[in-house]
Parts: sequence; structure tokens; C-alpha cells
Amino acid sequence: MMKDEDELFTCCWCGDAVNNIPFDVVCCEIPEQLKEQFLKEEEGRIVNIMLGTKVVPVGVPGKDSGIAQEGADITFMCCSDECRRAVEERLEEAGFQALRNNF
Ligand SMILES: [Zn+2]
Repeated sequence: MMKDEDELFTCCWCGDAVNNIPFDVVCCEIPEQLKEQFLKEEEGRIVNIMLGTKVVPVGVPGKDSGIAQEGADITFMCCSDECRRAVEERLEEAGFQALRNNF
């Protein structure tokens, strides 16, 4: 658990520490079949997914969390606008819907 919490504060895109507050977080809804495949049993954890050609760590919010209630299945922690935009671009290319950011 400690390890997962540490990883929450590392940029999913460049790997730098995330120091900006509020955090730049990209929230994303993913198709049902992907949820079944990748996210089962992973609530509240960090999982690695392929985004374009890159493996990135994403947070899987617990069902009862505010983020999940708003429809986010996975969250990407970003250190900067630059990384956030990079993630959003790749999500768009992959056909995923980014919901909102700047929590
Ligand atoms: Zn970054």
C-alpha cells in the first residue's frame, strides 16, 4: 500500500515527481470490456496500461470515491500541463474519452 501511494505522486507520463497542487489529473472512462479485462479486482490500486506505445501507470479509483461516481474508471497523474496534454492526445488517439482534470 505504501508503494502504491508513492506512485500516485509520480507523473504517469515522464516519471517525474508530481509537486503541483492541485494535481493535474486526467480522468478517463474506458470501455466495459477493458474494465473486465484489466481493472477487475484492481480498485484503489495502480495498474499499468498501454497508451500508444508507452506503458503508463494509472490509478483505479475505488467504486465509492467521488471520482468514480462521476464516471472515471482510471486516472492519470501528471506533473505539468505538458504531460497532461500528451496524455490527453494519446487518449484521444486511442479512442478513449477524457472526462475532466484538475482535481
Ligand atoms: Zn510529467
